[in-house]
Amino acid sequence: MIDQFGRRIEYLRISVTDKCNLRCIYCMPLEGLDWIKRNDLLRYEEIAHIVKIMADMGLRRVRFTGGEPLVRKDLHTLISLVSKIPEIEDISLSTNAVLLSEQGELLRDSGLNRVNISLDSLRPDRVDAIARRPGSFEKIMAGLEAAENLGFDPIKINVVLVGGYNDDEIESFALITKHKPWHVRFIELMPTSSNLNLSMNNFISCQDALNKILGLGELESVHGPRGNGPAKYFKFPNSLGTVGVITPMSHNFCDQCNRMRLTADGQLRPCLFGSLQTDLRGPLRQGLNLIPFIEKTLQIKPERHNLIKGSEEGSGGLVALSQTGG
Ligand code: SAM
Ligand code: SF4
Repeated sequence: MIDQFGRRIEYLRISVTDKCNLRCIYCMPLEGLDWIKRNDLLRYEEIAHIVKIMADMGLRRVRFTGGEPLVRKDLHTLISLVSKIPEIEDISLSTNAVLLSEQGELLRDSGLNRVNISLDSLRPDRVDAIARRPGSFEKIMAGLEAAENLGFDPIKINVVLVGGYNDDEIESFALITKHKPWHVRFIELMPTSSNLNLSMNNFISCQDALNKILGLGELESVHGPRGNGPAKYFKFPNSLGTVGVITPMSHNFCDQCNRMRLTADGQLRPCLFGSLQTDLRGPLRQGLNLIPFIEKTLQIKPERHNLIKGSEEGSGGLVALSQTGG
């Protein structure tokens, strides 16, 4: 699958639910959102069917995300279905890890290869302040430990930079990579209509983060771990892990974009942001051939996103990243 700018699309991020057991300040309003209706959610067989069609067109890697993918019942059955599609070489999961210690083993045995875990602070009180579901820290840490013990590799940790909440922990997060084989990635806060104040007033750039880390000693630029994303990676001499930065706001990486997104209600989106999407659920349920709908989406994939700090212009009416899978 090649788009009109010559980018090869081999990677699909699949949101399996818009619901979540946390309420991260930058992602989801405390009162939740207007959830997708049950009948509008793609069933697991429908998701696997779409992946198979796209695999025949060139898709090679998928990631399950959400909302929180582990709150959807029996996610392992979907992983099992997708792992049987021979063209799919890599199946990964983005999770807040709250339920990972319960489900990790079954997920791994069903074919899950690796996990990205969101962890915005190393302090329980801060995790409570950011995730707004008190008591989550212990569960997240148990999930992280389970991921290690189950042999998921690489383990990537996503840290969204939020000024006043976790910017004084940047060095601590980086130092962990000296003795843990974790890949800690700092992510710039992106604006959606539910976080405009925060994304304007509490924005910290990855360059700010790197400047702090440089003060800790020599950092060299390295190839990152196996993965699909736009992160740039660095490493301290002899450290086991790496430090990565994901810079959607300060450096545009759209020219290397390799992905499309499938929402939990079956909309194929060529870009995380913007309003462009193609309904696959309707045609799928009518028994139509999906290839023309997928090809059309590929052809309308925009050259780049147009996010502007603190503005909903560019996010295309998106209320929260949980609606499209972040
Ligand atoms: N619930 C899972 C999790 O938290 O990893 C998967 C879904 S979440 C939407 C995917 C990623 O998007 C997480 O790493 C989260 O921190 C990040 N994210 C959510 N809203 C964001 C925003 N406004 N700016 C930057 N990253 C965001
Ligand atoms: Fe839930 Fe992930 Fe959004 Fe946090 S970032 S509210 S864990 S979907």
